[in-house]
Amino acid sequence: MSERHDRAVVTVAGVAVDTRHWIDGRRVASSATFPDASPMDGAPLAEIARGGAAEASAAVTAARAAFPGWAATGREERARILHAIADGVDKRTEELAAVETADNGALLRSHRRGVMPRVAHNFRFFADWLLTLGHEDFETRGHSNHVSWDPAGVCALITPWNAPLMLATWKVAPALAAGNTVVLKPAEWSPLTASLLADIAAEAGLPAGVLNVLQGYGEEAGAALVSDPRVARISFTGSVPTARHIAGAAAANLVPVSLELGGKSPLLVFADADLDLAVELAVEQYDNAGQVCLAGTRLLVESSVAEEFTRRFVEKAATLRQGDPRDEATGIGPNIHPDHVARIDGFVQRALACGARAVIGGGPNTELGGFYYLPTLLTDVAPDAEIVTEEVFGPVLTLQTFDTEEEALTLANGTRFGLAATLLTGDQERADRVTRQLVAGTVWVNCFFVRDLQAPFGGSRQSGIGREGGTWSFDFYCDVKNTVTAPKGFAHHG
Ligand code: NAD
Repeated sequence: MSERHDRAVVTVAGVAVDTRHWIDGRRVASSATFPDASPMDGAPLAEIARGGAAEASAAVTAARAAFPGWAATGREERARILHAIADGVDKRTEELAAVETADNGALLRSHRRGVMPRVAHNFRFFADWLLTLGHEDFETRGHSNHVSWDPAGVCALITPWNAPLMLATWKVAPALAAGNTVVLKPAEWSPLTASLLADIAAEAGLPAGVLNVLQGYGEEAGAALVSDPRVARISFTGSVPTARHIAGAAAANLVPVSLELGGKSPLLVFADADLDLAVELAVEQYDNAGQVCLAGTRLLVESSVAEEFTRRFVEKAATLRQGDPRDEATGIGPNIHPDHVARIDGFVQRALACGARAVIGGGPNTELGGFYYLPTLLTDVAPDAEIVTEEVFGPVLTLQTFDTEEEALTLANGTRFGLAATLLTGDQERADRVTRQLVAGTVWVNCFFVRDLQAPFGGSRQSGIGREGGTWSFDFYCDVKNTVTAPKGFAHHG
């Protein structure tokens, strides 16, 4: 799949991808590289520049030098360039989708039809939002108050591998729209589309140094980047253990930090729910081979319908074809890396050893080699079992039953996470009552994964700190300022 052109550019899925950093509008190599492999079969895709402290520092220097110019660029011009980046994404949708699938294994059809259009939308949305951003002036004893959003400076953006370009642009777009400059450090298991984004941004006319892409391992490039005292904002999407390191670095420099972390979200099915819809949404939790932070991995089902729900779930899950993510007919693809498959299997085997029962799945798909994990449903799990309380980040769901609303809520809120919750019921009053008591950044009632960029997105408890989307993103990426002006001829006497 990958063919070396020269030392720096590889062809992946027919697309030329530069494996070097993008710093100050130029490609920059590192003396060391790290391997990037296909999640489908482990075949080598590329050797990627392995940045460290020197490259992180160079990227921050470039971003800092570019900051005054970009911050002073008028809103309309910034918005115009962001729209041009979106146009570039639209033009290259097929290429971006193909490279992303080759690199992270998520379904090609989702990348084509859902994810890449969404990437373009991220730029358009924040460009348009910028132009409407404002607060009505107000008066205090004749003085006017004017609220403005000043760009903060250099933003360090660190992203995970499960939805690489989508999640990166969710940060890059508002940070740039607000007038900041950026150093993006993509995840080492899926570093390729970030490099293509640098090409697209340059073609769209984004000045040198405004967007920099730093490649490398988290403990090296990432750690150096977030501890650089010249960084004004840190935004991170990833796991809780990494978040602790990053929050520590942010604390050392007293830098505002946004953390979008893991989840162990419940999907509650009450007996009065539309059971077909409940089953459909439950099976959807296997999307992206379960590597979705928001996934409702804990199915909580009212006892009276649990048997029927399980029967229909098993029937529906059996229609999911597992295989090559480039194939239109595939419903579930590979997991990101054999190490990750082993991690998923560790959780499942420990659960089975503790008495859990695998209704479906329960191990890697042996016919497809070690890269695909079978969609798995586990029952007979205790509320405090590891499999119920820890994020597996694979196609593994658990099913627990409840008899009362109170019991359902206790189970639903019974982990240290609070990212999302999905609720299926035919009773609106119940929906209102339960929603009020759920600890979650997003609650979906009789639906799943409907996301609007105007809405706040983020996690409660250990699922994160802060919210992204609309105003919340601009509030984070800006120094919000209030200017109080005295009326003409006013003399202040203390
Ligand atoms: P991870 O925490 O291992 O890595 C995320 C990023 O952090 C990578 O770019 C990595 O290189 C970098 N990193 C690692 N150590 C670092 C350090 N010491 N300093 C700076 N950077 C460092 O997470 P992952 O395995 O890539 O992603 C999966 C996790 O992300 C899951 O927990 C998932 O729930 C979470 N996630 C959350 C959301 C959300 O919006 N809440 C979305 C997607 C994924």
